[in-house]
Amino acid sequence: MASAKYIFVTGGVTSSLGKGIVAASLGNLLQARGYRVTIQKFDPYINIDPGTLNPYEHGECYVTDDGAETDLDLGHYERFLNVATSQNNNVTTGRIYNNVITKERKGDYLGKTVQVIPHITDEIKRNFFKLGETGDYDIIITEIGGCVGDIESLPFIEAVRQARWDVGENNALVIHLTLIPYLKAAKELKTKPTQHSVKQLLEAGIQPDILVCRTEKSLPNDIRKKLALFCNVQLNSVIESIDADTIYDVPLLMRKEKLDERALTKLRLPHKGDPQIDAWRDFLSRVKNPVNEVNIGLVGKYVELPDAYKSIAEAFIHAGAHLECKVNVHWISSETITEKSVKRTLKDMDGVLVAPGFGERGIEGKIEAIRYVRENNIPFFGICLGMQCAVVEFGRNVLGLDGAASTELHKDTPHPVIDLMEDQKKIEHYGGTMRLGSNPCKVQKGSKPHKAYGQLTIQERHRHRYEFNNQYLEDYKNAGMSAVGINPDSNLVEIMEIPDHPYFVGTQFHPELKSTVMNPHPLFVSFIDAAVKGKKN
Ligand code: GLN
Repeated sequence: MASAKYIFVTGGVTSSLGKGIVAASLGNLLQARGYRVTIQKFDPYINIDPGTLNPYEHGECYVTDDGAETDLDLGHYERFLNVATSQNNNVTTGRIYNNVITKERKGDYLGKTVQVIPHITDEIKRNFFKLGETGDYDIIITEIGGCVGDIESLPFIEAVRQARWDVGENNALVIHLTLIPYLKAAKELKTKPTQHSVKQLLEAGIQPDILVCRTEKSLPNDIRKKLALFCNVQLNSVIESIDADTIYDVPLLMRKEKLDERALTKLRLPHKGDPQIDAWRDFLSRVKNPVNEVNIGLVGKYVELPDAYKSIAEAFIHAGAHLECKVNVHWISSETITEKSVKRTLKDMDGVLVAPGFGERGIEGKIEAIRYVRENNIPFFGICLGMQCAVVEFGRNVLGLDGAASTELHKDTPHPVIDLMEDQKKIEHYGGTMRLGSNPCKVQKGSKPHKAYGQLTIQERHRHRYEFNNQYLEDYKNAGMSAVGINPDSNLVEIMEIPDHPYFVGTQFHPELKSTVMNPHPLFVSFIDAAVKGKKN
């Protein structure tokens, strides 16, 4: 049996209460007390992973070093804990059933009727304990997606009940996150939805140890008492989670409520003094007291749903804090940008980032935006599709390659400057088949990315099928756009730069995925720095 201790986080009343942030904040505090912590998420949907989901459905797809396409909460875990996650940190119902059905076909259950209990719940538990059994962690926090009471999360809740029994007393605890709504007309905070939600957990055989109560108003003592009494928890295990200015406040708010202490006491683990959170406090004070300010246009096609670009938005906060600069992100729909409107839209921007994406919608607007910033010396940062669009724009408008395009968007283009690699052409399945995960890249000495990284070899994460077409490499270089990052294994282009521009960098990889509070990403820092300098000039 696993030697690690387990904390399960369930949710009730409604979704979107910020379970991921609470889990990440608790993990952060336990880590700051010297514990080795990781967080995993179990999602009750049937997709094998979120890689095939439209960002409008589920927000950004977060990619790990080992190439797993995962839920965006894993991004929060990495940003708060500064520890890499992996495929094992995100498991869906689809993956559980897939594993069980594969075993059944192999004959592993020969003679048995394969059922939700015990086979599905056993497979869930095997995955609950996987990371704990590596010996790499003292505490495993497991977030259960969805809400208690949903039909689809029942097997997960049952598995939590059993897992708690399996590991024995004091080795696991359940934190239930709920909402305490405030009724304006009655001027009252209401505890009934939480009582019902806990009742539902009790029906499933789980008594929560700690309640974390999301609220817009501070919880007075009588409300805390009522919650404690009717939900069978100790008074000091009713934890208030009040709406915060920034998600990065939440660890400090949880500290104030002593969530970390409660968890350690219940797990019979030593508190080891106070958590070391000075660096975190310092980061927050930089976020809240900037000395500079820049306006950055984020040009993308999913801008109505900022969660679609979650990691980019957070990377701007990390880089901004590092430079003591407030980064005002202006979300601009690429579909609204035309030759006529581009100046009006972008003239007040100190920098423009063109976002990753898939498919044709909004492409011409992205290309128009890139032409404008290239010609007007406005700092530019292109990520993945954003880099590909910069290559197309340069091909068309500088090299005079009429109709240059990516074959993703124009199959029969006369100038396929971005094209599918041979090994991608054979692929028939969409799920998990892109160039995914961490790849090495050699950076050219003296380039802006080299100055930013301060290193000649880097590792960055990928998620795409199309690549720069190396047949055009020389022509681009001669005209002023160079490949300054090359994959040493495959020779694929990973970074493009116009060295003569104040800042014009495009990356085939996704740097935003590796930016954390403690390690702001060097390319985001250098881009914001260029925007600050450009503004001053
Ligand atoms: N659609 C492009 C490709 O598949 C870019 C993907 C992305 O921006 N993540 O190559």
